[in-house]
Amino acid sequence: MIRSMPERIPEALQKKLSDRLSFYEDLGVRLFYKQRGDLQVQPAAAPATQSFEPRVNPQISYEEAALPKSTRRQELPKPAQTAQRTASPQAARKPDVLPIAAGPSLFEAFDKVPGDTLLKIRSDLGECTRCKLHTTRNKIVFGDGSSKAELVFVGEGPGHDEDMQGLPFVGRAGKLLTQMIEAMGLQRKDVYICNVVKCRPPENRAPEKDEVAECSPFLLRQLDAIAPKVIVCLGAIAAQTLLETNRGISNFRGQWLEFRGRKLMATYHPAYLLRNPSAKGEVWKDLQKVMAVLGLEAKKGKSAEAGKSS
Ligand code: URA
Repeated sequence: MIRSMPERIPEALQKKLSDRLSFYEDLGVRLFYKQRGDLQVQPAAAPATQSFEPRVNPQISYEEAALPKSTRRQELPKPAQTAQRTASPQAARKPDVLPIAAGPSLFEAFDKVPGDTLLKIRSDLGECTRCKLHTTRNKIVFGDGSSKAELVFVGEGPGHDEDMQGLPFVGRAGKLLTQMIEAMGLQRKDVYICNVVKCRPPENRAPEKDEVAECSPFLLRQLDAIAPKVIVCLGAIAAQTLLETNRGISNFRGQWLEFRGRKLMATYHPAYLLRNPSAKGEVWKDLQKVMAVLGLEAKKGKSAEAGKSS
């Protein structure tokens, strides 16, 4: 029997989600409404790199504002990891799962919808009015690309260009993402690109918790329906949302993590790279890890080309 997801989240679940989000808020964890202005980005010391080839600048930090830790958060597994840490810094940088806040997951309540398709999900989304973003949006940006993609990129939310065209990542950051995809030996049509929220937040602010709570079931269904081998989170908001963590992205960027049984890699957002081109090397290293898992080879010349236009 095909179980379709109700158009609105059931009231009990909504309450559960809302309680959970209030719990975060009570702890001072403003997971879903971090303003971009909060990002504590140190200015790049090195000159802008013209290439995606690895050129790591250790001085670059993409740390989110430090948020208080929940006392109810699961502790990081200590003894084993501490031992690993001393034995192999490389291994220590690769935990499989990030510690997440205790309590019901934003996502765990959503079972896979058998036989779900992107078309059905789009139809269930409809001309969505579930959150306040509908009042200011121009077009819903559902997602774009292959329904059979092995690789899905998840961004934060549409910007101006995306809102006008109804397509994800078509502005300046999108052009850079396209170059990154091509540097990986792929084309945009080979992958799937979507966002945490499907409507543009006004002034490009970060999505707020209620907006994420309303929209994320659709993102989850998209990810389940596509069933990619790898999910790449572009930027802190996407990563923190899917991983349900308030840890700064630089703590886990470039490490293989897990999201509902799938491999997840978080890397910097292309918009961040436009402001900090010298971080491209780090992103390229992350993408090379993804390529290794997908058995991809870099297109000759593309990685260098990708860096030039920013
Ligand atoms: N930034 C995002 O996070 N998503 C887009 O679709 C465009 C810019």
